[in-house]
Amino acid sequence: MIATIAAIRSLSPRVKEFVLQLPQTVSFSAGQFVVMTINVGGDQIQRSYSIANDSAGETDQLVLWIALNESGRVTPQLFQMVVGAQLEVSEPQGGFVLRDASLQQVVVFVCTGTGVAPFRSMIHECLQQQDGSHVVLVMGNRHREDVLGHTEWLQLTESTPRFHYLPVLSRPNEADVDMQSGYVHAHYRDWVIKNPQAHVYVCGWDAMCKEARQQLKDLGLTRRQYFFEQYDG
Ligand SMILES: Cc1cc2nc3c(=O)[nH]c(=O)nc-3n(C[C@H](O)[C@H](O)[C@H](O)COP(=O)(O)OP(=O)(O)OC[C@H]3O[C@@H](n4cnc5c(N)ncnc54)[C@H](O)[C@@H]3O)c2cc1C
Repeated sequence: MIATIAAIRSLSPRVKEFVLQLPQTVSFSAGQFVVMTINVGGDQIQRSYSIANDSAGETDQLVLWIALNESGRVTPQLFQMVVGAQLEVSEPQGGFVLRDASLQQVVVFVCTGTGVAPFRSMIHECLQQQDGSHVVLVMGNRHREDVLGHTEWLQLTESTPRFHYLPVLSRPNEADVDMQSGYVHAHYRDWVIKNPQAHVYVCGWDAMCKEARQQLKDLGLTRRQYFFEQYDG
């Protein structure tokens, strides 16, 4: 279907939020993505983007959080686009969605960069469960300015005591005392060790996913307890 860019907003130095107005209502599950087809120098190129709406279900607007890869084929062109431009997008798709069984357990979301996008609606869905368990977001970035949705996560922490937000910076400044430092892996470990039945959802680029997979295995989690969305296939 052909979508129209309804709004563009800078979220960080490298990431923009694109709001796409769809020609019809679609239904999506928290965690799904759309495939965008874009013409680059005469080639039709496809790229996938997680749906970053804050709640799943029926919608005629999709929110996408997209990072610029200066040497990439598609994102430099996307970042030149303006409100009113049109894009081809697929129906929502993908199997990286909340398992029913997760809703009875501690759920830990682990991501780097725009890997947080699918977690937005997934976290809200977990928190809508009346008697739900703890929900943890461990989000890795290099610098403070790269952290996506910081204010939203802080507000959610205040309003919902069972939500826990752990931003982690790999290159912190001295002033970043309110955030963890290092890589994400050291920071979800304790939650998993203390809650051996926890379900863990991981989203981001290859290196982080690979390391998380190994660590979760080493911690004794079974394949029914962890789920991955890898941005480079
Ligand atoms: C299911 C799925 C959902 C996705 N959701 C999102 C999303 O919500 N937001 C988003 O920004 N991207 C998302 N991606 C990645 C996106 O599809 C593109 O790969 C990305 O936008 C780069 O496209 P490009 O054409 O500009 O770069 P390419 O020409 O494809 O990039 C060239 C190389 O750079 C690597 N690369 C690109 N960007 C990065 C990065 N930030 N960190 C590390 N390596 C990188 C790629 O692996 C590739 O090898 C998703 C991918 C998948 C498979």
